[in-house]
Amino acid sequence: MSELRQWAKQKTHSRNPWGEKLDSNGYSESLLPSDDCFICQIGGDLARHEVFGGSSRQISKATGMWVRLCPRCHARVHADSNMEELLKKEAQALFEEEHSHEEFIELFRKNYL
Ligand SMILES: [Zn+2]
Ligand SMILES: [Zn+2]
Repeated sequence: MSELRQWAKQKTHSRNPWGEKLDSNGYSESLLPSDDCFICQIGGDLARHEVFGGSSRQISKATGMWVRLCPRCHARVHADSNMEELLKKEAQALFEEEHSHEEFIELFRKNYL
């Protein structure tokens, strides 16, 4: 098994696969950063949304695959599978610019592009 796969299988992470320390909630810096809502650019009451949820949620947090969303956009992303899919595609593309396609597949086990 690759080192990356081993990392992904750990229950808890203190660093991401590239050695960067995570915050106390398990997040590394986002690869999709924004000061305001990532989708509509409205500021205020923002929540962190993990782009890849379910069993990939911790990995999503730890590898920067999360965005800041306002309550409206956050509700929409969870209710609208097309919007969710678009966000996943964008996140995978940005991940692959920073890292690689192979690493994405090893971590998330799925290709959204
Ligand atoms: Zn918004
Ligand atoms: Zn969410």
